[in-house]
Amino acid sequence: MGWCGLVGWRGRGRGAISEGMTYLAAPIGVREAGDLAAALAQARAGGAEMIELRLDYLAHPSAEECRVMVAEAKRTGLPVVATCRAAGEGGRFAGSEEEREDLLEAVLGAEPDYVDVELATWGRWSDARRRRWAARPRQLILSSHDFAGLPGDLGERVRALCATPAAVVKVAYTAQSLEEAFAALDVLHEGAGGKGLAALAMGEAGSITRLLAKKLGAFLTFASLERGAESAPGQGTLAEMRGVYRWEAVGPQTRVLGVIGRPVGHSLSPALHNAAFAATGYDGIYLPLDVGAGYEHFRAAVEGLRGRPWLHVRGLSVTLPHKENALRWLEEAGGTVEAPARRIGAVNTIVFESDGGVRGYNTDYAGALEALGEKLPGGRAGLGGMSAAVIGAGGVARAIVAGLVDAGAVVTVFNRTAERARQLAGEFGCRALPLEELGRQEARLLVNATSVGMHPKAEAAAVDSCCLRPGMMVFDTVYNPARTRLLREAEEAGATVVDGVSMFVNQAAGQFERFTGRAAPKDLMRRVVEGLLREGAGGAARES
Ligand code: NAP
Repeated sequence: MGWCGLVGWRGRGRGAISEGMTYLAAPIGVREAGDLAAALAQARAGGAEMIELRLDYLAHPSAEECRVMVAEAKRTGLPVVATCRAAGEGGRFAGSEEEREDLLEAVLGAEPDYVDVELATWGRWSDARRRRWAARPRQLILSSHDFAGLPGDLGERVRALCATPAAVVKVAYTAQSLEEAFAALDVLHEGAGGKGLAALAMGEAGSITRLLAKKLGAFLTFASLERGAESAPGQGTLAEMRGVYRWEAVGPQTRVLGVIGRPVGHSLSPALHNAAFAATGYDGIYLPLDVGAGYEHFRAAVEGLRGRPWLHVRGLSVTLPHKENALRWLEEAGGTVEAPARRIGAVNTIVFESDGGVRGYNTDYAGALEALGEKLPGGRAGLGGMSAAVIGAGGVARAIVAGLVDAGAVVTVFNRTAERARQLAGEFGCRALPLEELGRQEARLLVNATSVGMHPKAEAAAVDSCCLRPGMMVFDTVYNPARTRLLREAEEAGATVVDGVSMFVNQAAGQFERFTGRAAPKDLMRRVVEGLLREGAGGAARES
């Protein structure tokens, strides 16, 4: 039973409303009516499927101007929603409530496909006015917004909306966490008893509700014309929805995957994995899942996803600060953890099997070995007996030390904080030396597993150039920039270089293969990562 006490409407089609379509709606708010044509053209070119005309953005809105704008928007051939939002619900209308309501009524006469009216406004209207609007239920969207947070009475609000004559109902609230965003997904899953339904959680934590709207059969989801033109926090752009998040391909059975971490806003993984899904025809959508530090947040997020089988969650990448939390959760949940991940103490990949089982992996380990193996004549077997100096003692260093030791390399760990180097070396049966000793070593392989050289401090180098010699192999795990100062200097010194992009792509390929059971399109993945880095994406990239 749905929120409205009726069988959910999804799966039964939406009758006259839209024949089951989820609209990708572009909100357009202009201060002057003269700017509308350009914005409409941009929406059409960007692939919008519906226009939301935000009349409250006009500097001096008049009934006549609004009617003309509705007519102009209708000439695009796209369905038009006319909205004149009250300030109390996130709008910009500066006039009196009476003026706004008169404007709405005038706009209704201009025959937009829909007019959006707040539930609170509807509640204040006289019976006579409500009857007039109720005579045109197919044009009516009733909505409720809460910018402060997840309303405690969300279910009641949805029930109240369902009890109105509106053809379409919409709830939006600000989510502080992924857990709070789940409530909107539940609303969508329950349906609105035959009405069109939109349920959106605003803010970065709520992006899942926007990106999965089509999968869950929502009436619409919003996407802005460009960065900075959002009508609410957390909205993506049309280009992102279509180019990265596979708008065309998403359907009810699409499997959900994503990267859990904080921050995930700069993550390269969504673009990378979604492109790989598209290239291999895998029916999946890969999302950024912003989850704050702390085991309890991690557990609530993963169990919230897993506990909603209708989301068809298939797998998760796990990045900072949750790799240790992922291992702990898998152990508590009775999952299977592959041996290297257990030894490293960190999981970066979780796969949910169709039989209900759950598995954890650390693809950084294999990704690093793979990247090195690609440059060795005999593949990774060539690491056997090789002397290796690893600089760093953090999470990435752990995975690399474990991998090199397993591959038979003779590893020495160096780190700014000597005690951490000693501890790491002790755990994996290798030796640690003070960082100052690095220049006196004759290592055949040198690995930078620190953050030194990473954007925006790209001119820093973890290793003095006098340590670099012809014939040695230098591996920098930093991947933003792709060509670090260390790699440039190593090449100049005649060394063979392995870049962090190779490790990043190989660890992502390992995830992709575990998620999908298909061979990863590694060349494409590399091109996507390099393209994103060239465009300035990635930030201070530390994810995997
Ligand atoms: P982490 O756990 O925070 O460890 C950071 C390491 O860098 C520590 O050993 C730290 O030394 C050292 N360090 C930081 N600033 C330094 C400085 N100014 N001078 C000398 N040493 C310094 O980070 P992580 O997760 O291991 O990530 C390390 C790097 O790996 C990231 O920055 C990222 O660029 C790269 N990475 C690459 C991939 C990939 O797939 N290619 C994936 C993830 C990360 P102390 O112990 O003394 O603090």
